[in-house]
Amino acid sequence: MNNWDLRLSLSEPIPALSNQTTALIRCRDYSAQSVKIALRRAFDAIGSPERFIRPGDRVLLKPNMLSAKEPERAVTTHPQIIEAMGEIVLDCRGKIVLGDSPAGAGRDLSYFWNKTGISAAAKRLGIEPTSFEDCGIKSIAAPGGFVCISRAALDVDSIINLPKLKTHLLTRMTGAVKNMFGCVPGYRKAGMHHQAPTPLSFSRLVISVYQQVIPALNVMDAVLAMEGNGPSSGSPRHLGAILVAEDALTVDSVAASLVTIDPKKLPIFQAAVERGLWSWDSDPIVVLGDKLDELRVTNFRVPDLSRLERIPGFVHKALQKVIWIKPRADQIACSSCSACVDNCPEQAMVMKNGIPKIDYKLCVKCGCCDEICPENAIQQEISLLARLIS
Ligand code: SF4
Ligand code: SF4
Repeated sequence: MNNWDLRLSLSEPIPALSNQTTALIRCRDYSAQSVKIALRRAFDAIGSPERFIRPGDRVLLKPNMLSAKEPERAVTTHPQIIEAMGEIVLDCRGKIVLGDSPAGAGRDLSYFWNKTGISAAAKRLGIEPTSFEDCGIKSIAAPGGFVCISRAALDVDSIINLPKLKTHLLTRMTGAVKNMFGCVPGYRKAGMHHQAPTPLSFSRLVISVYQQVIPALNVMDAVLAMEGNGPSSGSPRHLGAILVAEDALTVDSVAASLVTIDPKKLPIFQAAVERGLWSWDSDPIVVLGDKLDELRVTNFRVPDLSRLERIPGFVHKALQKVIWIKPRADQIACSSCSACVDNCPEQAMVMKNGIPKIDYKLCVKCGCCDEICPENAIQQEISLLARLIS
C-alpha cells in the first residue's frame, strides 16, 4: 500500500455502505457478457440499481465523447458500457437521456455519435442521443464568475456519469469529476480554458461545474484506459476494470490509486479540498469487489504538470494566446438584424457593411451573440490546443 492509500480500507469484514463505498470490478474486455457481469457484481457490492434509479425518472447518461474517435482509441467511453448501463436504467423503468457535447463540435453531432459507436448503442436502447448544444443553456453564478450548463443536464431527475479513465495534459488525470465539465455546451468549454489556463485555476472551474450537476452514480470505464498525452492523443492502456460509486471524487481517488497516481497531487482534489468537498482526514473509502493490489499498474505514463504549476503570470498570458476561442459572424448566414451587436454585454461588436465586426480585445467569450442570433450565423473558431485539452 502506498502512503496516499491511507484513506482506502481494503480489509474484511465489509463495513457499512456509504456514498464513498466503491466497487472495483475486474472486466477483462468489452464483450457484452463481460460488461454485464462486471456491472452486476458492482451493484451486488454497492447496492441494487433501484437505489439510484426510480421508476419514471428521466436519467441522463453522460459518457465522455471528447472527439470523433473509434472506441479502441480509448478516447471515449466504450459504447458497450453505455449500452449495459442503459439496459439497467430501462430495467428500473427509468427513461434514458443520453447526451454530451464535444468542445470542437458544431450543432450536428451525428459524425461524433457514429464514429464513437454511441449511435449504434443508442439505437439498440431505442433512443436518440441528445446534443447539449441544442437544449439551451443556463448561466449560473459560481465562485469567481459564472458557469454555463446545458439544460439537458439540469432538466433531468438524475445523472449517471460514465467517465473514461485517462491522463490529461492540464489536470494530469481525467475521470468522474472532470467528465461533468462536459455539461458545459460545446465551444464554451474552450472559452473556460481560456479564462483558466493553469492546472489549479482550471480545476476550480471544473469543480464549479461539477457542483451544479452532481451525479447520482458514477460508472467509470477503466477497461481500456489512456496513458501518456491524454485526453485525446495518448496511448490505450489495458487496465481491465470498472469502478462504480455514488461519489465522483471517491471514484477518482480510487482510480488514481489504481494507476499509482497520488491523488493529493491532483489539482482537482486541491480545488475540491478548498471548496470543502473533500478531506484527507475523513473516514476511509471502502473498496469492494476485486483487490486493488491485483489490478493496480505501477508504470502508468502521466503528464508532468510541475512546470505548468510553477509558471509565472506573464506566461499565463502567453498560454491564453494559444488557448483561444473567437466568435465570428458568417457573412452568408447573417441577415444584418444587429441583435448580437445590441446585446453584446461588452460592446465588443459593431455593424460594418451589414456584418457584425468583433473587437477581440473587448470580447469576453460569453457566447451571448451566438445564443441570440436568429440565423445561427455566429460561429466559433477554436484553437487547436483548446480542442485538444477540452
Ligand atoms: S462572445 Fe460575448 S463579448 Fe464576445 S462578441 Fe459575443 S456577445 Fe460580445
Ligand atoms: S444576430 Fe446573427 S443575423 Fe443578426 S447581425 Fe448578428 S450575426 Fe447577423
